[in-house]
Amino acid sequence: MNVLVINTGSSSLKYQLFDMENQIALAGGVMERIGESQGIMTHKTFSQGDEHKTKKTITIEDHQKAMHLMAELITQKIDAIGHRVVQGGEAFKSATRINENVKNAIQENNPLAPLHNPPNLIGIRLAEDLFPGKPQVAVFDTNFHQTIPEKAYLYALPYEYYTKHKIRKYGFHGTSHKYVAKKTAALMGKNLEELNLITLHLGNGCSICAIKQGICLDTSMGMTPLAGVMMGTRSGDLDPAIFGFLMDNTGMSQKQIDEVLNKKSGLKGICGLNDLRDIHDRSAQGDKLAKLAVEMFAYQIKKYIGAYAAVLGRVDGLVFTAGVGENDEIVRAKALADMSVFGIELDLAKNDVRSSEPHTIHGTNSRVPIWIVPTNEELQIATETCQVLKNSI
Ligand code: ADP
Repeated sequence: MNVLVINTGSSSLKYQLFDMENQIALAGGVMERIGESQGIMTHKTFSQGDEHKTKKTITIEDHQKAMHLMAELITQKIDAIGHRVVQGGEAFKSATRINENVKNAIQENNPLAPLHNPPNLIGIRLAEDLFPGKPQVAVFDTNFHQTIPEKAYLYALPYEYYTKHKIRKYGFHGTSHKYVAKKTAALMGKNLEELNLITLHLGNGCSICAIKQGICLDTSMGMTPLAGVMMGTRSGDLDPAIFGFLMDNTGMSQKQIDEVLNKKSGLKGICGLNDLRDIHDRSAQGDKLAKLAVEMFAYQIKKYIGAYAAVLGRVDGLVFTAGVGENDEIVRAKALADMSVFGIELDLAKNDVRSSEPHTIHGTNSRVPIWIVPTNEELQIATETCQVLKNSI
């Protein structure tokens, strides 16, 4: 079965086509800057280890145009479509075949993810028009975290804020955490149900997850992807009183503060840069704020590892993934320094080796294996799409 995975953002459309029998990607691409005067279309095909890439600057007026361009570029057959949907709320505990009720429920969750769910739904509707009769499945970022217990997902606010407004922790990057946890168990030759893992998805957005015997017990992101460890441009956890303080003392509106917390904070807020490669370069030149940003980031990651070790009781593996997690040996070394009390000991030489394959970086005396496992959210979405369709036949 060939499964097309679609991720529709407010100004982009990402897609990948998988041959699921052979577990390989056949084609993929991205339409960027939708709605701007100059868009960018990138399409790749993969065949027997070779990659063929086409890139064009072209006006992509709207999502409909982007979807048509994608359909023209894909020459292989498409049997089913899996959509990434960010916020499933409490309505969806697992991936789901799309019908009218599912679309309505996604729309009802718009207030919880105003930047993500509306374009996700546009993508679903367009794909239904373009590929009539093909089964469509929604895979939610929040699915994997629906097992988090009440004591961990509730905020200590008046209880009716939860019942009336659905204010609670939902967590994100669920498909990534699930994928790397499963993959790590397979690499260790164990069942996921026997392992307690801490997975660290560190990219532009960052989230950390405590997984006990395959069940997610807690995660660092919250009701929105703003919570948790500081990120490229997002603040992460804050004293909630800071919001009101800024409103009272700076003249900024609620919208402006929101923009600061999402786009001008995190690593960027501290040192003016959000890409860690640039930050390390600056730091090497003696820039104190660049150095401070890295120290803060690593410190916050360390605190979550300690907290989740306490939540899990026993840790059988730490798993680093995504752009920073897979590639940044400096952040990993700082975050994992002096953690032998937790049985965590990094091998600095192994930590410095780059590889696109999964590998371990712990020392011989480390009680806890430390893995680097490249994530593949698209493949996870395609896999769950197949599972849903098998179960619904
Ligand atoms: P996204 O959350 O957008 O999917 P990625 O997982 O692609 O993000 O991670 C992007 C970040 O990863 C970049 O901003 C950069 O800081 C970091 N990164 C990527 N490659 C490297 C590298 N080789 N060394 C250090 N950091 C890297």
